[in-house]
Amino acid sequence: MRINVLTIFPGYFDDPLSLSIPGRAREAGLVEYRLVDLRDHTHDRHRTTDDGPFGGKAGMVMKPEPFFEALRVLSDPGHVVSLTPRGRPLEHATAVRLALEDEITLLCGRYKGIDERVTEEWVDEEVSIGDYVLSGGEPAALVLIDAVVRLLPGALGDHESASSDSFYDGRLAPPAYTRPAEHEGRGVPDVLRSGDHAAIERWRQRRADEATHARRPDLLDLDAAD
Ligand code: SAM
Repeated sequence: MRINVLTIFPGYFDDPLSLSIPGRAREAGLVEYRLVDLRDHTHDRHRTTDDGPFGGKAGMVMKPEPFFEALRVLSDPGHVVSLTPRGRPLEHATAVRLALEDEITLLCGRYKGIDERVTEEWVDEEVSIGDYVLSGGEPAALVLIDAVVRLLPGALGDHESASSDSFYDGRLAPPAYTRPAEHEGRGVPDVLRSGDHAAIERWRQRRADEATHARRPDLLDLDAAD
């Protein structure tokens, strides 16, 4: 898979895409990251990527030309995703779907956002990472990349398997414990130390159900609607 990112801050991605699962997946050849500096697609002395808005409100808007040129230079940008609070919420299903693409291109906005004509001409999908406003699309792009890359076959070792994570089967994951068995007066549930695998599995299912009912009943409602 190839992931292109159009941004005015390519350096923002250096460490996050070199470390941990996104970094290991790149080293293993599962994914290629291509950072495109939008300022390389400007043609004025100040390398300008923003301008005042039509309509007179406060704030700057990202100019269309650098995006159009950068997207044309990519020749085939694949599935183009714009990160914006106006997009549909990023969910597990979104990550699963995007992980099946050969190439995706992520557009990172700044200021008041990206000129709407970029969206009209190029964008297949607008995605939000939540109902709050960030200063830029870069952290949102990193969230999306991490969620997608960890689903690529081979990206996770067995011990990290995505299949026991929250949302994989439509519910939250059960709580997890490690050594020591006692810590500052708090123990580990006896069943987890019993060696009875069937009982452990029943405990996990029950705790996953309880957590989902208590915290995210909407997930269970969606299941019922399916
Ligand atoms: N004026 C925009 C609005 O109210 O919808 C917000 C612009 S925000 C200050 C600047 C950029 O950050 C956006 O263009 C987008 O790329 C990114 N951004 C902010 N919040 C986001 C979110 N919740 N999800 C995804 N991207 C976000």
